[in-house]
Amino acid sequence: MGKIILTGDRPTGKLHIGHYVGSLKQRVALQNSGEFDKIYIMIADAQALTDNYDNLDKIRNNLINVALDYLSAGLDPAKSTIFVQSQISELTELTFYYMNLVTVSRLQRNPTVKNEIKLRNFETSLPVGFFTYPVSQTADITAFKATTVPVGEDQLPMIEQAREIVRSFNGYYGETLVEPEALLPKSGAARRLPGTDGKAKMSKSLGNCIYLSDEPDEVKKKIMSMYTDPNHIRVEDPGSLEGNTVFTYLDAFCTDKHFEEYLPEYANLDELKAHYQRGGLGDVKVKKFLNNVLQEELEPIRNRRKEFEKDIDGVYEILYNGSVAAREVAAKTLSEVKEHMRINYFDDLELRNKKN
Ligand code: ATP
Ligand code: MG
Repeated sequence: MGKIILTGDRPTGKLHIGHYVGSLKQRVALQNSGEFDKIYIMIADAQALTDNYDNLDKIRNNLINVALDYLSAGLDPAKSTIFVQSQISELTELTFYYMNLVTVSRLQRNPTVKNEIKLRNFETSLPVGFFTYPVSQTADITAFKATTVPVGEDQLPMIEQAREIVRSFNGYYGETLVEPEALLPKSGAARRLPGTDGKAKMSKSLGNCIYLSDEPDEVKKKIMSMYTDPNHIRVEDPGSLEGNTVFTYLDAFCTDKHFEEYLPEYANLDELKAHYQRGGLGDVKVKKFLNNVLQEELEPIRNRRKEFEKDIDGVYEILYNGSVAAREVAAKTLSEVKEHMRINYFDDLELRNKKN
């Protein structure tokens, strides 16, 4: 059995540096490693509609934004199939059959669902579609027989849920589906990058993001007003790294080479951290360093985006072609699923020719 990747993003906004370090950067590396037989990248518009059913324009307009972010970050349609979830109706069919294999209480216990319900104030008005999105996510993953799902930490309970559904399906109906594994970034900071406000994970819904497409002056402005250690008032004061967002971002993005280039008085991040904790190192200096690091990472992405923006029609064509290719694969899995569930009445000659 080959190694297959499926992963994706909701088209609820432009992609930010949390998506980038949490998943996108790794996807591009995996795509270029040649280690995977197939790579499917899905824009999860149907999932995004479960909590944006009353805001259709948001989803419609952000589809192209996410596609542009993908291409500018280095996803290559010649190597990865980029497609749009809603165009693959087989995924909805699979979801319906998988729903029988999950209990309401199991979904209620899913920590990500719990958290997201709270975040959206859905306690008393929870759409059934939103509540069951882990099931639809299982359909997305299994339709492509994905073995590997590169995601940020918040998605771990989703992958666990998918594995349970696969085991249950295979147990009832015979070996059909593949159990996926999550692939997290190595750096802990990249698994759940906090927002610039330091409060929670960077998230499109919370407005605490640095976007991949932000102009250089916007990036700088956001960095210079970022949350650090509130007790680090004077330069000579000892500073704390705990919950200090600037250092978390450095953990996720900077390398020793960046020190050589922009801050040669330190050999590496450990030395910078030690100085900060000792006292005598101001926030502004650290922020300026982070700005250099991020500008270097974001500049080529921003430039490529501007090129792709010149041919929006061509980008839609990429999504269309990807969706056609993805649909063929999902249709094959759905037909296997129906066969194993014994609802393939018209293809089953034995059944058709049975004498009563
Ligand atoms: P929304 O607020 O609409 O849910 P989001 O910013 O959480 O948007 P998603 O589209 O839900 O983004 O997530 C896409 C992928 O990016 C997932 O794999 C998720 O784990 C990862 N991801 C999202 N935010 C972060 C983050 N702050 N740090 C690391 N990974 C992240
Ligand atoms: Mg999310």
